[in-house]
Amino acid sequence: MEIKEAIEKMGFPIIPDEKSGAWQWFDVRELKLRYILSVEGIKKFYEGLKEGKLLATKCKCGRIFFPPQKDCPSCKKSEMEWIELKKEGVLETLTVIHVRPTSFSHYDPYAVGIAKLDDGVRILAWYRGEPKLKPGQRVKVEIVKRKEGYLTYELVPI
Ligand SMILES: [Zn+2]
Repeated sequence: MEIKEAIEKMGFPIIPDEKSGAWQWFDVRELKLRYILSVEGIKKFYEGLKEGKLLATKCKCGRIFFPPQKDCPSCKKSEMEWIELKKEGVLETLTVIHVRPTSFSHYDPYAVGIAKLDDGVRILAWYRGEPKLKPGQRVKVEIVKRKEGYLTYELVPI
């Protein structure tokens, strides 16, 4: 049921759920959301990316964080050391996103993968290449420019 149709029928933008029949309010206004996050504590990560480096933070307790974090949730400390990750590893899983979030609706369906880098750190990133998962598939991490003009990293089969 369309929102206009629902308003005519129900008197409100209420569209009963197809399966359960439970009433659901569909707001007539679309919500656009833009957020601002502080990255002050991990700005070295962005500086590294610009230089072609993939940087992570390592806590004194041994935990490694990628994407980097300033604070360690295990020992509650903020004494992090910056380490450079190896940009190669093994692809562990892969999925193709057909139903894209609104913020990526201007992209064709894309693949996302998780790889375990050779230094043991797992990385989640877009996967460029034929989306077929082969056991032991080696991948490298490439730093690329997104359509929007900023840098990001992608997994690419070797
Ligand atoms: Zn820690």
